Amino acid sequence: MRRNPCIFNPIDHTPMFIADLFDNFLIDLDGVVYIGNSPINGSAETITELREMGKKVVFITNDPRNSPKGYSEKLSSMGILTLPSEVITSSTAIKHYIRERCDVRGTTAFVVGTKELKEELKQIGIKLLTGEDGKSADLVIVGGHAEFDYAEMKTATIAVRSGAGFISSNRDPVFPTKEGLVPATGAILASIEVASGKKSISVGKPERVIFDVAMSTLPEGGETVVVGDRLDADIMGGKNANLSTILVLTGSTLHQELQDSQIKPDYVIGDLSELLREREYDRA
Ligand SMILES: [Mg+2]
Repeated sequence: MRRNPCIFNPIDHTPMFIADLFDNFLIDLDGVVYIGNSPINGSAETITELREMGKKVVFITNDPRNSPKGYSEKLSSMGILTLPSEVITSSTAIKHYIRERCDVRGTTAFVVGTKELKEELKQIGIKLLTGEDGKSADLVIVGGHAEFDYAEMKTATIAVRSGAGFISSNRDPVFPTKEGLVPATGAILASIEVASGKKSISVGKPERVIFDVAMSTLPEGGETVVVGDRLDADIMGGKNANLSTILVLTGSTLHQELQDSQIKPDYVIGDLSELLREREYDRA
């Protein structure tokens, strides 16, 4: 894949915006566009301007606590007019993964996740089992949700130990909130993996599945870049998918962590608006 080795216009050597290097932007949400329900300064204006420049913007998130429609409404309320088809969640990736590998008619699943995730799985024809019935499910599917409890951990563990297929949305250990970093899907998943002695197949970032689904919505050709705030999910994922990467320092990653990490993004910016500022960013 072609990588731009420099940030200057090769014709007249004038400085370029980092945004000029790319046609398609796969942008993470939490920690990049907003934190919780608070938009990050300048993100709405930047995304609007990218689109006015003719760039394609697709949002890609590991967080399955909301549906693409829910995210599109949340973004639109922040001034970032977005269609549900422009949001790829780890639920979208789970559906894609299952549809490619299972005859969904008659497949049963025990889902540790939000009602939005459950609804999306029902829409493709999977029968959801609840309570004790979950122990005999064909699949155990784990996404993050705030009401996770011991009964769910137990049912999921017994089902996986009995041979159920084991799929997870992602392994993110924490996510940023105003209170600080709090447990995410990876923390819930770890408990079931430890108890069952089996490792799940994860389809969200940094795995390729979610990026392949996102890429399938983009026009053919053009340079695509992954923009995110996590080294182990966004940047590692971009690398796994053979895409360029930009780390944004508004979310989970601190400058010191970047210095210490083996995972190096192609570019580092302080916040999204630096995509459109001249030379106020570093090559990593
Ligand atoms: Mg993030």
